[in-house]
Amino acid sequence: AAPDDSDLAIARATPLRPILPLAEQRLGLAAEALIPYGHQIAKLSHATLASLGERPPGRLVLVSAMSPTPAGEGKTTTSVGLCDALNRRGVSTAVCLREPSLGPCFGLKGGAAGGGRAQVGPMEAINLHFTGDFHAITAAHNLLAALLDNHLYWGNALAIDPERVVWTRVLDMNDRALRRIEIARGTDPRAVPRETGFEITAASEVMAILCLAEDLDDLERRLGRIVVAWRRDDTPVTAADLEAQGAMAVLLKDALQPNLVQTLEHNPAFVHGGPFGNIAHGCNSLAATRAALALSEVVITEAGFGADLGAEKFIDIKGRQAGLYPDAAVLVATLRALKYHGGASREALGEPDVAALEAGLANLDRHLSILRRFGLEPVVALNVFAGDSAAELARVEAHGRDLGATVVTCRHWAEGGAGAEALAAEVVSRLQGEAPRVVPLYGDDLPLAEKLECIARELYGAVGIDLSPAAREQLARFTAAGHGHLPVCIAKTPFSFSDDPRRLGAPEGHRLTVREARLSAGAGFVVALCGEIMTLPGLPREPAAQGMGLDAWGEISGLC
Ligand code: ADP
Ligand code: MG
Repeated sequence: AAPDDSDLAIARATPLRPILPLAEQRLGLAAEALIPYGHQIAKLSHATLASLGERPPGRLVLVSAMSPTPAGEGKTTTSVGLCDALNRRGVSTAVCLREPSLGPCFGLKGGAAGGGRAQVGPMEAINLHFTGDFHAITAAHNLLAALLDNHLYWGNALAIDPERVVWTRVLDMNDRALRRIEIARGTDPRAVPRETGFEITAASEVMAILCLAEDLDDLERRLGRIVVAWRRDDTPVTAADLEAQGAMAVLLKDALQPNLVQTLEHNPAFVHGGPFGNIAHGCNSLAATRAALALSEVVITEAGFGADLGAEKFIDIKGRQAGLYPDAAVLVATLRALKYHGGASREALGEPDVAALEAGLANLDRHLSILRRFGLEPVVALNVFAGDSAAELARVEAHGRDLGATVVTCRHWAEGGAGAEALAAEVVSRLQGEAPRVVPLYGDDLPLAEKLECIARELYGAVGIDLSPAAREQLARFTAAGHGHLPVCIAKTPFSFSDDPRRLGAPEGHRLTVREARLSAGAGFVVALCGEIMTLPGLPREPAAQGMGLDAWGEISGLC
């Protein structure tokens, strides 16, 4: 974008209000209920969170999307625009988003605080260090790793098999050079050298735990359940065995408190927790969602990537654990993504191409059917980009009518909340109707491999799954250790319903290849790594970081 209409330029041209009076006017929270982090950011204190429990909850709207292009299709932007549009109608609404990671911010995607006139602010702080939650999670995760290697160093009383340590280290950076490392090299006779690796903080089980914990007690209990290693006899060693959970909870005490900021139209926004939707469960924190529901009539929340990833995980993991399901859903689509999934090249996505558009509609249809499968009838939000052809937009609306789905064009990126009024009207009418009966896809009792098969067949259009020998052994071991009842969290490319990012559109007849399974006993799910997916991304040839800098007053340039 040109400097003058960049997200950063628009954000700077819109002064934010002081957060404490905004919280008082809009959420009825006194200043003492909040912990300010400067003028524009505050956390809700643990005491405040505890006091909200009795209030009747508002209605929850889940924002999902079709399969994206590499640039993202506008879920965050649409969530913010819809929140602003509902508030314009007089419906007290808050938006719940995830905290951006430094990895994509300095890599490919740029910031994750929305875009155009549909942003949350202060966007520079939110995109960078914010309230330090990611740093706290990184520290807590790495403390557990340090305690574990220290335990090996001092004689290994727990009889951990050093070859079967499964706890890695993490950092919030796209740094592929750290995927596999050797540690404890040198001549110290006590050292236990071994191979391990790094993952990105957004994939850490500690991140997932922070996002699923009900309160501080639950946080500490979950941290204690983390399985860090296995013994030769196949019994697990936990963080509690290392007596690590107390110190980890100490590091996470402040991070568990949800962050309150505002949209550019001065409506409340909770930005808290940041697991990715492809390699983790992809939802903002339960603590923030619950607080927002207690304080507003309607809450808009975004789950990562398409309905195959974030929405499935919202319902099958977060919803199942918390007993909290959406009352309505929005499915974001763009002409660009439709053409991309219909075979157009990335460079030509801005050009009219009816043939590619037609072909790409199959991708949208499959996401629609996934949400319907869960009992949700989504409103399709067609996120309009400057230069989109009116004929092509009309074609998508007509296609929606053929499928009995409502398609609404939205211009919140260019116009703010005013551009999403039609979407807001449609969402309100859904919320006034009968509440949908949302149910998870599978029951707890289904064996782990069959849970994976169920998702692959029923949602991805696959004909089955292929478990590697390692994955098969892992699932059997997790089940024998008493974790077979857990839901599964599929880690796969967001660009395809298959595990191959090149199979765009709506592939059929493929098999999902599960190469490895990982137990997240504290978070309460089993991760299945499919295809080539990496839990520590790399940087692209020309990282976004290369265009960033400061002027003499410390003003940032090049961030988004
Ligand atoms: P997601 O949450 O689905 O990843 P975002 O809302 O973060 O997507 O949007 C991805 C990028 O696309 C952002 O840089 C945003 O500013 C930009 N964007 C979204 N919608 C539009 C639009 N209608 N016109 C131009 N740019 C847009
Ligand atoms: Mg987003």
